[in-house]
Amino acid sequence: MAVLVTGGAGYIGSHMVAELLKQNEEVVVVDSLQTGHREAVTGGKLYVGDLRNSVFMETVFRENTIDAVIHFAANSLVGESMTDPSKYYHNNVYGTLCLLDKMKEHGVSKIVFSSTAATYGEPEHVPISEEDRTYPTNTYGETKLAMEKMMKWFDIAHGLKYVALRYFNAAGAHESGSIGEDHHPETHLIPLILQVPLGKREFISIYGDDYATEDGTCVRDYLHVSDLADAHVLALKRLRDGGESAVYNLGSGEGYSVKQVIDAARRVTGHPIPAKLVERRAGDPAVLVASSKKAESELGWKRKRDQMEDIIGSAWTWHKAHPNGYNN
Ligand code: NAD
Ligand code: UDP
Repeated sequence: MAVLVTGGAGYIGSHMVAELLKQNEEVVVVDSLQTGHREAVTGGKLYVGDLRNSVFMETVFRENTIDAVIHFAANSLVGESMTDPSKYYHNNVYGTLCLLDKMKEHGVSKIVFSSTAATYGEPEHVPISEEDRTYPTNTYGETKLAMEKMMKWFDIAHGLKYVALRYFNAAGAHESGSIGEDHHPETHLIPLILQVPLGKREFISIYGDDYATEDGTCVRDYLHVSDLADAHVLALKRLRDGGESAVYNLGSGEGYSVKQVIDAARRVTGHPIPAKLVERRAGDPAVLVASSKKAESELGWKRKRDQMEDIIGSAWTWHKAHPNGYNN
């Protein structure tokens, strides 16, 4: 019985594939390579194609005995989602509908799904818990919430069991140094900071320092990508053990400001990393920090990599060895 990983050639999906292989799972990857990389898939069987292509997906489901799905495939650039909502509804919402229909046709009833802190929008409370209001402020978050809701109704109608994991900020790279983050364009803070000591960028921009936080810069909750992968393994176990559908936040519970992350990167790299204050980025909430108590108590999950320097250090090891990502 195989685990189907959609988006397994992407940043988080590739770390998931590595973890599943370590656990001796049989792994099937579906990825269109629209943002992912063939070289990021370290094992298993890779099918290159799109979730929305029914004939292609039929082959995948017919050629393999799939027990469960871990679903990463999506578009996830907030800015792009605001200028091209159609792309996000088409790929994220319609793509997920195609996947769920195919699962139903083939009697596959377990799915672990990448949701996001963006489903909450501007938080009511910090740290954010799963019962808090979900009121997305961008199309990306809205499509992820729609995907969660689609699963809820497939559960009620067809008994599909799902675990939606609402990640906060994924960061870092695999301990082997062989897989890491390689997005084009890159929008995430930590890889952008590291482009400065790599000589690819003169300074890091700080998007606003007039937020209601201690140093005025936005506060986020950074979690090592391998700790995220561990949570998926536990979510899969919950479903295999007959557990009910559920939604969990995944974060560290600790907030780091943009300035604190830059300072940590300076310590890790020994580079002065010049920073320049620029305008706020539209739609950025001041503080996003998760309460992951529910995942800890119900899944038995606990993050292992809890030092910001270690998280950035793992990313630094990857980027130093792969300054041009997988196109080295
Ligand atoms: P990524 O872009 O690196 O990976 C997504 C993968 O899905 C890519 O390999 C891409 O080629 C593939 N894909 C996209 N649409 C597809 C389709 N229709 N058919 C087949 N393959 C398709 O992104 P990531 O950073 O690894 O994020 C993975 C998931 O986690 C996404 O769903 C994202 O919304 C979610 N997420 C990420 C973060 C983060 O900090 N990176 C935070 C919260 C949630
Ligand atoms: N950020 C920044 N400069 C950059 C990139 C990001 O100041 O060049 C800030 C951004 O405003 C946010 C935080 O860093 O407050 C994390 O941004 P990222 O895009 O990594 O993740 P997000 O929290 O938006 O998902």
